[in-house]
Amino acid sequence: MSDPKRVVIIGGVAGGMSAATRLRRLDPTASITVLERSGNVSFANCGLPYFVGGLIEEEEDLILQTPQQLFERFRLDVHVNSEVVGIDPSAHQVEVRSTIDGEVTTIAYDALILSMGAAPVRPPIPGYERAATLRTVEDAALLAAAAGRGANAVVIGAGFIGLEVTENLIEQGLSVTLVEAAPQVLPPLDPEMAITLVDELERHGVRVEVGVGVIEITEDEVVLADGRRLRADLVVGAIGVRPDVRLAEAAGLAIGPKGGIAIDEVNLTSDPSIYAVGDATEKVDAVSQASSLIALANIANRQGRRVADHIAGLVTRTPPSLGTAIVKVFDVVAASVGWSEKRLAETDRSYQAIHSHPFDHATYYPGATRMSAKLIYDTDDLGILGAQIVGQNGVDKRIDVIATAMAAGIKADELADLELAYAPPFSSAKDPVNMLGYMAENISSGSCEVVTANEVDGLVADGWKLVDVRTPGEVALGTIDGAVNIPVDELREHLAEFGEDPIMVFCAVGQRGHTAAALLSELGKKVRNLDGGYVTWTAWQRASSLSSH
Ligand code: FAD
Repeated sequence: MSDPKRVVIIGGVAGGMSAATRLRRLDPTASITVLERSGNVSFANCGLPYFVGGLIEEEEDLILQTPQQLFERFRLDVHVNSEVVGIDPSAHQVEVRSTIDGEVTTIAYDALILSMGAAPVRPPIPGYERAATLRTVEDAALLAAAAGRGANAVVIGAGFIGLEVTENLIEQGLSVTLVEAAPQVLPPLDPEMAITLVDELERHGVRVEVGVGVIEITEDEVVLADGRRLRADLVVGAIGVRPDVRLAEAAGLAIGPKGGIAIDEVNLTSDPSIYAVGDATEKVDAVSQASSLIALANIANRQGRRVADHIAGLVTRTPPSLGTAIVKVFDVVAASVGWSEKRLAETDRSYQAIHSHPFDHATYYPGATRMSAKLIYDTDDLGILGAQIVGQNGVDKRIDVIATAMAAGIKADELADLELAYAPPFSSAKDPVNMLGYMAENISSGSCEVVTANEVDGLVADGWKLVDVRTPGEVALGTIDGAVNIPVDELREHLAEFGEDPIMVFCAVGQRGHTAAALLSELGKKVRNLDGGYVTWTAWQRASSLSSH
């Protein structure tokens, strides 16, 4: 009988621990060693912001498994406070240094799995070393303690982690300024979708500064590029992460074009005995099929499982990555999958973006909340390229349906045919996802032409008549400059007023506009409906003015 396989794993959290436990289930005899630099393995990094805010009260609640438990259940040999400082691929061994006493040992492997994650980006801004970052339980404990001592905080970076930290510092009673160099918060979303988050942040007292970078951090201030100085007892840096490739690079492993460890379809690196998973690696992007960096827990866990399968001799699959992500900011939820419109606009791909603003469930049943949904699809084959949803209830469910549709190759118009669970407390007979499908079907079949918010001014200049088909009561609260108000139910009586001019109609969210456009079109008029209606137009205007500040 051959000796049991020696598998060594560097990094004992998402990808690393998934690989370890899955491998044990598949191979009862393998020697599995996990080496983790921090003081904990298998901790909930995604829960760290909520520990800072006090929602998760005990540090132990962040730790899903201890080395002792992992030994008892899985016979895993887990070493915390053990940093791998070198890999020798030719000798098949790693060098490990204790972070407690500095003692160095070597451990041999037959297969090595790298799951070192990603490290927070630390730009060369003077004083940036004062910025706290959040990656480990120890970081969270330090940040929670610092939050308890301070009154003013500046969070640099309004991505997923920056937003979550901001919310949790507010929960701790701090006065928080959120600074983002990009012209909007949550840059993976399109600006007109992200603007709702600014409202929500401001509603909770957060000062939001977008489109301005930080140039210096002093002992008690953060200095912005425009010269303003923000008081800051506490500074948090959340400007993104970079794959932790130092060990891989030093070992001579191939690094991909985006700076992550290059891996093949079974997660093997350029060395046939070394696998890599998680945030440290490059993935295949599902929309472009190109190499990309997507740092998300689901993918790390999935890759860890697949590596264990491969080591155990199973046939594995590696689907490309969609980057499905979600974040809660106080009472608002924002989620996305695939590519944003602004990213697609930089390519030569032809796409259509559509907006809708449905309720999460039937409005006659109490508690319905409105969401904003955006679907982007390829105009040539109607393949779904991305979606974004912002709202309160039911956002997670809709983004996951669309992510599943994308994975299955379901086309934008085919969303209309999905049979989704419905009873009044949960949805409408036409679910928001179905509605997006109906819209895609209408547009792609040519039965409805739409204009986007940014096209309105140009078309008005070209002589298009702008008609607001809402009620006078709604119009009194605001409309688009230059629009005439003819409620949808009165259109027939006003036909003569239009003459030969082409017409742009709009309502609140696009639905009555669609009815108006269908009617006018039947009556021989050249007509287009404003995509997403006045709500999308307003969001677009506000996002544009925020970014031009
Ligand atoms: P990690 O889980 O980061 O594990 C890497 C481990 O390797 C670390 O513990 C590190 O200490 C260790 N290590 C590194 N170098 C060495 C070395 N030389 N020797 C020994 N050990 C080493 N993703 C989501 O999908 N949803 C979320 O809500 C979400 N929230 C997040 C919130 C925070 C605050 C953070 C930090 C991340 C969040 N993520 C979230 C991202 C998610 O946690 C990562 O995508 C995922 O953990 C990556 O798994 P990984 O195994 O690649 O790396």
